[in-house]
Formats: sequence, structure tokens, C-alpha cells
Amino acid sequence: MFHFLAFVFGTVVGSFLNVCILRIPNGDSIVSPSSRCPNCKAAISFYDNIPLLSYLLLRARCRTCAVRISPRYFVVELLTALLALALFDRFGFGLSFFVSFVFVGALIVISFIDLDIRIVPDVISLPGIVLGLAFSLVGYFIVTSESSVIPSPLSSLLGMLAGGGFLLATAWVYEKITGVEGMGGGDIKLLAMIGAFLGWQSVPVTLFFASLVGSIVGIGCMLATGAGRRLALPFAPFLCAGALLFIFFGQDLIQFYMSPS
Ligand SMILES: [Zn+2]
Repeated sequence: MFHFLAFVFGTVVGSFLNVCILRIPNGDSIVSPSSRCPNCKAAISFYDNIPLLSYLLLRARCRTCAVRISPRYFVVELLTALLALALFDRFGFGLSFFVSFVFVGALIVISFIDLDIRIVPDVISLPGIVLGLAFSLVGYFIVTSESSVIPSPLSSLLGMLAGGGFLLATAWVYEKITGVEGMGGGDIKLLAMIGAFLGWQSVPVTLFFASLVGSIVGIGCMLATGAGRRLALPFAPFLCAGALLFIFFGQDLIQFYMSPS
């Protein structure tokens, strides 16, 4: 029953994240005005704004002008709901669930904005860094359960420095050698945010996973499209996927590598 509630809660939050993905790149307010059809500007009534269901019932079309609605709305709502369910299953209802869900919500918004316009918005990553550091202090003073996702304040601070510093150094060396700007500044701030939320151990895991999967997908895309030159693939979604991997399997990975036998 509580799993079902976590899923429904996830769809509602996912619906809000869709608004963020749409409006943050334009600098619009995320609270007003209420949702409108991007084509005919007709206000969307509450019964056509039910997460997941309305998209299916309206067969992916606006009720007023019948323009096709992007499947992204459905994908984001479903993804957020499944992650809410998985986080609840993993951590139960408490501080770890709350902190990790806020973090995951930010990752979803960042990923889809990066896919859209190839920008990691500072308005999310910079407050995200501060929030990650702040949550580590909250976690430090409130006794949390064993399977906590919240790092110690020191680990959080080191994570932020490692995440920001490592990519900054790589980008600098890359630019010195090739003369072109490689890694975007947005990716650097994103990895600093991931380090602040998940602790320093998450930085190498996230970076390794993102580089590996990013390279495989990049080569796959080049072969599929026949594009010989280096494709400008958005990197943030891979970093976010790496961070998700760490949330669910990070403790196991650390124990596996740290255990003497
Ligand atoms: Zn319309």
C-alpha cells in the first residue's frame, strides 16, 4: 500500500518536474501561470492534468487543438514515479528518502534540460551544491538509519571539491593540448553537486560509469548515423545515471572494494 502511495507521489512530483524542464531554460516562473498547451495556449484543466492517466486518456493530444503532446511528459512522470518507488523500497520513509528524492528530482530536470538544449542550468546545480552540503550537516545531527544515503559533512565537502576539481583539471589539460574547449562548465558544477550530495566516493564511481557508458553510446551513435566526427553528446544524463547507480549500489561497491578478503 505504501509502495503504491510512493508511486503516486512520484507521478505528482514528476508532473511538477515537467513544468521545471519546460520553464527553467526560459527563466519563467515555475509556479504561475497554470499549465497551458504550448500550441494553442488553452489552459489545461485539472482533469486533463492528471499524471500519466491524462496523457493516455487524451491519446497524447491537446483537448482543444489536438496538437500532439511530447511523450517526454509521460516519460518524466513514469521515471519519477518508478524512482520514488525504488527509493522508498530501499530507504523506507525518512530523511534518506526525502534527501535522495530531492536530489533525484534535480537530476531528472538537469538531464532533460541538457538533452533539450545542451545546458546544465546553474539555477539548479549551484543551489544543489549548497543543499547537498546542508543535508550532510542535517544528517550529521539527526541520527539516521544504517542504509543512509547521506554522507558525513567532511565526505560531502571532499566530494564537492573532488567533483568540481577533477573535471576542472581535466578540462584545463584537454584545452591546453587540443586548443578546444571539451568539457562544459555545467558538467563540472553537476559533478560537484553529485559529490556534495553523495560524498567523495561517489565521484570516481559516477565519473567512471558516465565515461564508459557515454563512450559506448557515443561510438554507437557515430556508427549508426555514419557521422565520422566527434558527436557533441550531452554528458549530464550519463553523470546522472552514474549518480543513481551509486545511490542504489554505492554501499555494496564500497564494501566490496574495502573488504580485506
Ligand atoms: Zn492545444
